[in-house]
Amino acid sequence: MADILYTYKNSVYANITNKCNCSCTFCIRSLKDGVGSAGNLWHEKNPSKEDIIKAIRNYDFEGFHELVFCGYGEPTCAFDTLIAAAKVAKEEKHLKTRLNTNGLGNAENGKDIVPQLSEVIDSVSISLNAPDAEKYKEVTRPRFENAFEKMVEFAVSCKKQIKDVKWSIVDVLSEEEIDKCKKISEETGVELRIRHYT
Ligand code: SF4
Repeated sequence: MADILYTYKNSVYANITNKCNCSCTFCIRSLKDGVGSAGNLWHEKNPSKEDIIKAIRNYDFEGFHELVFCGYGEPTCAFDTLIAAAKVAKEEKHLKTRLNTNGLGNAENGKDIVPQLSEVIDSVSISLNAPDAEKYKEVTRPRFENAFEKMVEFAVSCKKQIKDVKWSIVDVLSEEEIDKCKKISEETGVELRIRHYT
């Protein structure tokens, strides 16, 4: 059975679904089956909301302050579960909550999910992945039309309602692309975090 909760560096991560609306050329899922303490992050069947809540309730978070909703999949593809699980993490385990997302949650759910997110998520990290719509489409291969624009819209909306919101890119991009991402960061007022490729 796949791990629902696992540790990586100093945080506990929640792997709530393997569903995703992109098919990124660089997706870690095509390279290995696990990350950090998790041997296998492929669920035979995506876990139910109850499975996730039970896993959080039973987990010993001693020494950890944050629960991160992250992949092997896009957490906003299991939106109800995400909201319910983050609520339990905050109210019962007194943890900070972070969402690592591709920023397509509004498109996926056909509604503005940010107000609900803002009630239970303390910080959001959005993978920018590319500096413009054309390159974005090429590398993330999203299921939606105008996905780049939808992602930017989502980030701006998060910024208005959630205190800690960041763009995230990996330093595999060219210098020119990174400069363009910095410009998007300035224009949107969303801080850019450049992660080192490991
Ligand atoms: S959005 Fe994340 S989980 Fe989905 S394909 Fe891209 S890298 Fe993989």
